[in-house]
Amino acid sequence: MNIRKLDTATQCIQAGFYPENGEPRIAPLVQSTTYKYNDADEVAKLFDLEVAGHMYSRISNPTCGVLEEKISVLEGGVGAIATSSGQSAVMLSIINIASAGDHILAMSNLYGGTLNLFKVTLKKLGIEFSFVSPDTSLEEMKQQIKPNTKAIFGETIGNPGLSVLDFEKVSNLAKFAGVPLIIDNTFATPHLCRPFEHGADIVVHSTTKYIDGHATSVGGILVDSGKFNWANGKFPDFTTPDNSYHGLIYCDAFKESAYITKARVNLLRDMGCVMSPFNAWLTNLGAETLAVRMDRHCENALAIAKFLQNHSKVSWVSYPALETNPSYELTKKYLPNGASGIIAFGVKGGVQSGKNLINNVKLASLVVHVGDLRTHLLHPASMTHRQLSEEAQLLAGVSPDLIRLSVGIENVNDLINDLDQALNRA
Ligand SMILES: *Cc1c(COP(=O)(O)O)cnc(C)c1O
Repeated sequence: MNIRKLDTATQCIQAGFYPENGEPRIAPLVQSTTYKYNDADEVAKLFDLEVAGHMYSRISNPTCGVLEEKISVLEGGVGAIATSSGQSAVMLSIINIASAGDHILAMSNLYGGTLNLFKVTLKKLGIEFSFVSPDTSLEEMKQQIKPNTKAIFGETIGNPGLSVLDFEKVSNLAKFAGVPLIIDNTFATPHLCRPFEHGADIVVHSTTKYIDGHATSVGGILVDSGKFNWANGKFPDFTTPDNSYHGLIYCDAFKESAYITKARVNLLRDMGCVMSPFNAWLTNLGAETLAVRMDRHCENALAIAKFLQNHSKVSWVSYPALETNPSYELTKKYLPNGASGIIAFGVKGGVQSGKNLINNVKLASLVVHVGDLRTHLLHPASMTHRQLSEEAQLLAGVSPDLIRLSVGIENVNDLINDLDQALNRA
């Protein structure tokens, strides 16, 4: 049976680990830095990448491999790398293809941490970023492309403004520019949206959120569709010899897996931002229930969004699956089975009322996190996005009164009653 042809609900449970006769049914935790070999020539071949196999857990590990294979199957990719955090997955996705003097065009409505990585840290390394509002027309976006542009970067569901990406538009933009489209699919997860089916070339996740789902492990993953042509003249690192591997040429040696192999053998080797086997083991366990959890997150969030819309203390509600939402048409197109569990809304009375709400909820808790099975809420302007200027906050979709609610999978009526009593005290 080909696991790749089955539904994501089956893949979440069955993909990634296929035990042989008599082996454990559950993916074992291989908490080992190293791997034993009998023959010196065998290890030399491993180092030269002539044969596949584990040599050191900074570069690969069997337990991380189970999670990598599962997410790769779920996304429909040719390979994946589990990383120490979502931030490191985003960082690797960029520096695998761009270096000092290159340019990346990114959507403006990104996760706050990604914006800082791009605007401050990667900028210091000489990579230039420009940002466009995702509402910008294709023609105007094309004008932002430069000869040194190396990628387009966006999020399936922007964070925290919650607008759904117009994949058709941005993938056309990427094709026009001859560069890959990199998508952060953290909020949607592959159960709700598979960006490779809509023209994306590379996907990243913070597995810290829904994929783990239980808030136990910080982690990330980088997934390669295998579809981008790195030999199109814009990416010489893929078509010229890598002197750190005796002149190996990634496109020749690894064909459609060139991107993900280079990220592993070059960047994980040198930078070491690898996921620990224990975190991979926990994250894989969480990922087994991803599909059922996501369905429940979506169902609860839609009911709560409708409740908030009718509440006298609420000034506005943004949830992509509400018919009144500007992203509603894109939601139907790209997220037909649900729009995830995150809602943004404004409380009448502004910042102080928002704080009163947060201080009065009893089930929902104030944590700097989204996407686990418990309901959480926070105030981005004073928390996750506080390092940005007010202008940059507005560009990222953060108004001063915005409350971000991450709807969990508790009983929806209990959640609604809790929000109702807290709103009435706001
Ligand atoms: C949380 C998050 C990240 C960063 O992930 P970490 O695991 O916290 O490093 C990146 N992108 C999005 C959309 C996120 O929500």
